[in-house]
Amino acid sequence: EEPEPVEDARPSTPVKPMTATEVKVNVSIPEAAERAAATGADGVGLLRIEHMVLSLDKTPERYVSEHGERAYIDELVDGIRTVADEFYPRPVRVRTLDAPTDEFRELEGGEDEPDEHNPMLGYRGIRRSLDRPDVFGYELAAFRRLFEMGYDNIEIMFPLVNDAEDVLRARRLMEDAGIDPDKRSWGVMIETPASALGVESMAEAGIDFASFGTNDLTQYTLAVDRNNGAVADRFDELHPAVLELISTTIETCREHDIDTSICGQAGSKPDMVDALVNEGITSISANVDAVRDVQHEVKRVEQRLMLESVR
Ligand code: PEP
Ligand code: MG
Repeated sequence: EEPEPVEDARPSTPVKPMTATEVKVNVSIPEAAERAAATGADGVGLLRIEHMVLSLDKTPERYVSEHGERAYIDELVDGIRTVADEFYPRPVRVRTLDAPTDEFRELEGGEDEPDEHNPMLGYRGIRRSLDRPDVFGYELAAFRRLFEMGYDNIEIMFPLVNDAEDVLRARRLMEDAGIDPDKRSWGVMIETPASALGVESMAEAGIDFASFGTNDLTQYTLAVDRNNGAVADRFDELHPAVLELISTTIETCREHDIDTSICGQAGSKPDMVDALVNEGITSISANVDAVRDVQHEVKRVEQRLMLESVR
């Protein structure tokens, strides 16, 4: 007698076109993970942890002083795990904390934050993490715990790096936290012109991937504040200077066998998708509402390239 087929209780994934370029999705709050996973995306190209931290209503320093480091690490583990579960075994690229001081200042404990004239150019991303290895260490402890729990689909991504020194220092702190960088997938965001121009030396530090944060890369390449309406018409992710930085970075990464990706807003835009698939990017990460269209756009461009190559 034939055994009864086991019913699959998971929501069915929509039929998606098969593409050589992976199409992933960005996730900013763990509660959005189920919907994001249902798109059939090949993974999470950017999981921001800012929401998990800012929703505690206290700066990490204040939260830890009142509730203890264990409680803070638990919060991070729970949030990341929700997403890693939803996508398993698809990869989930988790970015370490990148909130500017003006966002921390609104929280309890925010009065201790530096009052910066230019928070976007200031104490954020990997700069803050390297300056506060104790606080950064809680994030790394969360990653270590998740790896020990068996979440081998989690990848670590560092924001706002400038050069190999930033990367080597972050790498050392990973090792100090008991994470073997050679056994895990980890990498950087390319958000400053310096990081795009210096990706070759970062390759030697052992990164597995480089992901274009075009929101910041555009802001810093064109000197156009991404949050200033008065210059919003000058904020152009497809500006030739931005595309040139992206294109040379992809080229260098290919030579060093480093995966490339985009996780800025522009990854949801058809013109950028066209440009990047043409350049041979490894993956594109889009907003949840754009994943479907990006999957089809990638397919179209890949088919066109295929036809051109046999002509
Ligand atoms: C970016 O800069 O493109 C990015 C994805 O990071 P965020 O928007 O969080 O700065
Ligand atoms: Mg950014």
